[in-house]
Amino acid sequence: MIICKTIQEIRDSVDKLTSTGGQIGFVPTMGALHKGHISLIEQSKKTCKVTVCSIFVNPNQFNDKGDLARYPRTPEADIKMLEDAGCDIVFMPSVEEIYPKDDTRVFDFGVIDKVLDGAHRPGHFNGVAQVVSRLFDIVKPNKAFFGLKDYQQVLVIKKMVEQLHFNIEIVACDILREPDGLAMSSRNTLLSAEERKAASLIPKLMQEAKMLSKSVPLADVKNKLLAEVSTNPLLKADYIEFCNADTLQTITDINAQKTICLAAIFSGKIRLIDNLFIN
Ligand code: AMP
Repeated sequence: MIICKTIQEIRDSVDKLTSTGGQIGFVPTMGALHKGHISLIEQSKKTCKVTVCSIFVNPNQFNDKGDLARYPRTPEADIKMLEDAGCDIVFMPSVEEIYPKDDTRVFDFGVIDKVLDGAHRPGHFNGVAQVVSRLFDIVKPNKAFFGLKDYQQVLVIKKMVEQLHFNIEIVACDILREPDGLAMSSRNTLLSAEERKAASLIPKLMQEAKMLSKSVPLADVKNKLLAEVSTNPLLKADYIEFCNADTLQTITDINAQKTICLAAIFSGKIRLIDNLFIN
């Protein structure tokens, strides 16, 4: 596996490995890799000749500076996992390499980036669009792989690709979960044993949402789930919402459209997200 730190190095490496043609698959990450990330690498390897992974903790997408400071960083272990997975190139740039000067671009993706995490983490998706568009310009992939765990992010990236006319296929990949159902996340390593135990309620809430919504009005389901969260002193709900899966508009009638339940819940100081299609 080739390890690149600069834009010049990654461009040269991608050119070299694709000199006889073939598609480039790209997996952008913030590192502290787990099996969920590796599943994206595996998806890329299935259809692309060259797989590139980036590891970059993007300061521009953190509205909470404490979250940025405590974000886990495990570069050596990441390199080993990527090597074992058969990744061809890893790009690990510095902040200065990606942002030689401030990125002042402001994106507007309509409703998609204003609700849910867009409302609760101001500036988050603008920072995501800034970094992903720069990485797309640098790597120039044919396909880019994103996890459905960050469901809203997938919609934002698809809109960005449309707006900026990138000729890149966005492939959305299934959520990988721990044995108790908790969605794998780099942030899970930051949970204390008690917080980790409390967090296992989150995937159960998603399943409950799916089951109850067959017979109970969505507003009542939401109140029931919020009440369950509030019974555990370690947990605090940022939001639990039922949305149209295409537009992210809040919905009240499950039969009308493709519905997804999305939640952001704090366990201690650590904010975790999850989602599940419920019809
Ligand atoms: P992150 O490093 O958290 O920015 O994630 C990098 C990519 O991995 C994003 O596209 C995430 O959606 C994806 N990802 C993170 N966790 C999981 C998971 N549990 N299952 C599938 N994909 C994931």
